Amino acid sequence: MATTPAVKTTTKPLSKLKEEICDIGRRIYNKGFAAGNDGNISFRLGPNEVLCTPTMVSKGFMKPSDLCIVDMEGNQIAGERKRSSEILLHLTIMKERPDVNSVVHCHPPHATAFAVAREPIPQCVLPEVEVFLGDIPITKYETPGGQKFADTVKPYVKTANVLILANHGTVSFGETVEKAYWWTEILDAYCRILMLSRDLGRVTYLTKQETKELLDLKQKWGYSDPRLDKGMENCDICANDVFRSSWGNAGVNRKAFDAPPPMGADPQHATAAHAAAPATVAPPAIDYDVLVKAVTEQVCRELGIGAA
Ligand SMILES: [Zn+2]
Repeated sequence: MATTPAVKTTTKPLSKLKEEICDIGRRIYNKGFAAGNDGNISFRLGPNEVLCTPTMVSKGFMKPSDLCIVDMEGNQIAGERKRSSEILLHLTIMKERPDVNSVVHCHPPHATAFAVAREPIPQCVLPEVEVFLGDIPITKYETPGGQKFADTVKPYVKTANVLILANHGTVSFGETVEKAYWWTEILDAYCRILMLSRDLGRVTYLTKQETKELLDLKQKWGYSDPRLDKGMENCDICANDVFRSSWGNAGVNRKAFDAPPPMGADPQHATAAHAAAPATVAPPAIDYDVLVKAVTEQVCRELGIGAA
């Protein structure tokens, strides 16, 4: 197949972008996020050209020459190997989000366990997650590969940067390949910590005030969060799962984890689960101001972005 010259959304040469995708592929594979030939990665080269990983190749052992180019409808226009069968998922996200240039899909085990259990991800637990991830939706299950499957992300794609795909895995997206991958790694680490702490017997939630401080910090740094939108200001933040209205349709319900406690806020927002929950939530002994600052500064340093 002939190679079509790419219209770049970045000044980086195509060879460099191919190397970046291979590098993220190695990280996905080495983290155990993509068994066998699982997972796929894409980068938008221009208005109608997307660089993507091939099917039937381990993402841990890709060479730049293995990568393909497709148009925005998924037709292959360059590359010796056959493009990923899940490319329509990537293209649907790129069409909905002009700011997104890269999409990473894989099957990280801890996040995928929540996808299989259809258990919503509890909020108000870790400062870094509150600031960088926010609430994480679980999509409705569909057989992977087709447009119907790709369309399951549409209700959430504008309000989140990482989604859990029911009984399947995760998809995350961003401006660069590195940033797109970043959300997946943070989400899987968070899911693992949640499972470990629950096994220890207790998950301690942040208070409403502590969560509010984190959301204020998030706003200050220019990250959006649906919980900061108008109409949410009088709600109890912790009890307010942004995507709760979608749970019924996606078969999601809370079983393994308690709902974050209402912390004495407006009682009309407290659910029956809250009312029945024993008062096992101890006040955190950690200085979260110091912790959040340290964690976020480190992350920002690694990403080369300013935190101030
Ligand atoms: Zn998959």
